[in-house]
Amino acid sequence: MALIVQKYGGTSVGSPERIKAVADLIIKRKRQGHRLLVVVSAMGDTTDDLIKLAKSVSPSPEPREMDMLLATGEQQSIALLAMAINAKGEHAMSMTGPQVGIITDSRHGKARIIGIKPARLRQALGKVGIVIVAGFQGESKGEEITTLGRGGSDLTAVALAASLKADACEFYKDVHGVLTTDPRIVPEARTMPHVTYDEMLEMASLGSQVLNARSVEYAKRYRVPLIVRSSFEDGPQTLITEEEKGMEKVLVRGITYSKSDAKVTVLGVQDQPGVASRLFRALASADLNVDMIVQDVSESGVTNISFTLARGDLAKTLESVKAAASQVGAEDVQADENVGKVSIVGVGMRTHSGVAAAMFEALAQAGINIEMISTSEIKISCVIARDKVEEAVRVLHRRFRLEQASVELGKPFILEAEEPGRVKGSKPAKKPAKVKKTKKRR
Ligand code: ADP
Ligand code: ASP
Ligand code: MG
Repeated sequence: MALIVQKYGGTSVGSPERIKAVADLIIKRKRQGHRLLVVVSAMGDTTDDLIKLAKSVSPSPEPREMDMLLATGEQQSIALLAMAINAKGEHAMSMTGPQVGIITDSRHGKARIIGIKPARLRQALGKVGIVIVAGFQGESKGEEITTLGRGGSDLTAVALAASLKADACEFYKDVHGVLTTDPRIVPEARTMPHVTYDEMLEMASLGSQVLNARSVEYAKRYRVPLIVRSSFEDGPQTLITEEEKGMEKVLVRGITYSKSDAKVTVLGVQDQPGVASRLFRALASADLNVDMIVQDVSESGVTNISFTLARGDLAKTLESVKAAASQVGAEDVQADENVGKVSIVGVGMRTHSGVAAAMFEALAQAGINIEMISTSEIKISCVIARDKVEEAVRVLHRRFRLEQASVELGKPFILEAEEPGRVKGSKPAKKPAKVKKTKKRR
């Protein structure tokens, strides 16, 4: 009997009607002769509502109490889903993260899984055939309830699938799989039938909310193939695996964006060894992550260093960086809160040049200024003004023809500049200039 792990997000179980609809999906699958381990998120916006509730009674709630509170969101949805299944005549049982043996470190609010002891879960699966598990939560060695960070239910599902060597790990969403970009910005966005772990990891890290980045990392490490599909209706789905022969060959697989970045510039520092190291050591010591870093060409030995980070960390970052900047004799520190990021992702970029040129041309034609650029083998990201982000996503989606299925690699029109009035693809390929790529920095 196959063991299927399924994960339903907050939208999929957002109301009593949705819970009953999900119960039907689970029962249907069970009756095909499978055992089911179902991981569920909190209903709808419950987690956000609980965070607001906490803030209304305390300006800075203790992380331990916060986890105690947030874990209740998932406990509601698992109990309700089990009840709904039982009311329809099948037998299901709900279990919390600690009950299924998810052991984490003790970093409340962003705990990492350090081990899984699934004996009790195995027993329950053998007995009832459908076990509903609370996502997002675990237990530290000190027997405290912990949570895994926002979107952590995805990680619960992948970790349990790996631990029990499940036959499938399916994610149910309110969209048909992972699309070429966010359908709320580009309604023509298309389901990507097959994506590599690396592409999905880039997309998740660069702002796509469809899967949690740590869960994709975990799936890659333990080789758990992932399926993403709709819980609302049948339709296309996305398979996420290692790169395989026969995958649709495209240069650009998808476009992601983020509107929650900020940029900091340290002005007028000496261009000499030790300056960057002192600035970024200060940030690392405060447990702050930076994203892109750019240093200007120096003029008479003086230069500027800019970097981006999550906007939520800006206040803390400015505090650390201002102290370090005065130590290295910087002239000033400036912050820009109104930036965002647009990125294109695809393994085809490894072997084809000209993608960067095409991206920059498309943005230029739309009058969108690029403030910073960062690349890896399979992605190019540009920092731009936040109010241009959505337009940039639409422009790039069109530029790389992502609304069309199966655009073959190497077709000339993908790499050529699109001049207004010219029929696309009608001219022979011009070899575009090679674009030098730099390694990704973190
Ligand atoms: P969950 O309930 O697990 O949080 P959802 O069912 O809300 O997940 O689905 C994820 C949401 O992410 C979709 O509603 C969609 O609007 C958004 N989204 C953003 N980028 C993408 C993308 N590239 N592919 C699919 N969905 C995306
Ligand atoms: N409920 C948690 C959140 O909203 C965990 C999850 O849904 O994955 O982040
Ligand atoms: Mg959702």
